[in-house]
Amino acid sequence: MARTLEDVHRDIRTEVTDRAAILWDVALRLHADPEYAFAEHHAAQLLTDELERAGFAVERGVAGLPTAFTARSGRGRPAVALPLEYDALPGLGHACGHNLIAAAGLGAALAVHAVLDGSAGSVLAVGTPAEEGGGGKALEVDAGVFDGVDAALMFHPGVYDWKRAPLTAQAQYRVAFHGRAAHPTGNPTEGIDALAALIELFNVLGVLGRRLPEASHVQGIITHGGTATNIVPEYAEGLFGLRAATTPALEELAGQLLTCAEGVARATGTRTEVERATVRYDHFRDSSVLSERFAGHLSRSGITLTPPVPGVYLGSSDIGNVSVRVPAIHPFVAIMGEDGSDHTPEFAEAAASERAREVLLAAAEALACTTADVLLRPDVRDKAWAHHHATAEAESWPTPKHESHH
Ligand SMILES: [Zn+2]
Ligand SMILES: [Zn+2]
Repeated sequence: MARTLEDVHRDIRTEVTDRAAILWDVALRLHADPEYAFAEHHAAQLLTDELERAGFAVERGVAGLPTAFTARSGRGRPAVALPLEYDALPGLGHACGHNLIAAAGLGAALAVHAVLDGSAGSVLAVGTPAEEGGGGKALEVDAGVFDGVDAALMFHPGVYDWKRAPLTAQAQYRVAFHGRAAHPTGNPTEGIDALAALIELFNVLGVLGRRLPEASHVQGIITHGGTATNIVPEYAEGLFGLRAATTPALEELAGQLLTCAEGVARATGTRTEVERATVRYDHFRDSSVLSERFAGHLSRSGITLTPPVPGVYLGSSDIGNVSVRVPAIHPFVAIMGEDGSDHTPEFAEAAASERAREVLLAAAEALACTTADVLLRPDVRDKAWAHHHATAEAESWPTPKHESHH
């Protein structure tokens, strides 16, 4: 008798359960050895060793990043990517719980590989360094690592049980003003005060801030403000963090920053330069088709996911850059109570707790079952892609790179 999808789900749960001790050991080893952006060498080694031993075809150093990798089971389409994060926070260790993301993605990849044996398409475990700063996934997307993929599935530990992640688009911009040095009392009319221009920009942005849409935000700091009090500053520079609900809204905001800087430069007789100083993190576009399936699978472990609280944003992540290319999920599963917060010592402790172990295994099962759904059900893939394209249109996505899924 032909194996049904329910049979596959059951076999997957068995495979995850059989590997529970190994997966928890991987999570604890990552936790005990926190490594930081683009230097996660032990983590990449540990994970690729496990995947290679299971029969995955491993490629290290993808996208020109020494600690990035892909590990493939099967070939061709359909294809599901499982992004594994494993970077920690300097001074705080695994205070974002990425050790659990890596171990859950590993568990899902191993379970699907064991059950389907590459017969239904590809499973691609993708090692994605430097989520906390540097944007490994953004660089991997640009390098084509996620091309030919039908879905990218990951979970993130948190303090909420939320089906989807409200994550904004984000980028930093450097704004420089060039003036002319002079002695403040000796020849004051010769001087053009670049710092005064930069301060004026802060004032103008304060006015702009009052009419920005929800989730659009500018936070600036002064990084260069002159050298001595007896010289009119000829050069001043600020760094501005921009956030918005969507990438198109972020680009709009960046355009407004440029307009403001140019207006101030005209008014003050200075010259301005505005440039993006970081990788742009796109907003997160949730594939509700797939996140609903994940939530359904997770509920078998007794964890109920709900939609996020409206109007609450939880920062930014480079999964956004993946999510605007292919249908993606990034649900939050709580490992501590809502009175806690990630990026704290308490959260780091929770990332190695008994509750974290249960969440890890539940997430691995749900990720693996959702992977099987995408690989075995053409109607699920078609719905996910249709939703993906429709959402892009609703967001006024500026450069639609619609990918064929056939
Ligand atoms: Zn974090
Ligand atoms: Zn994180």
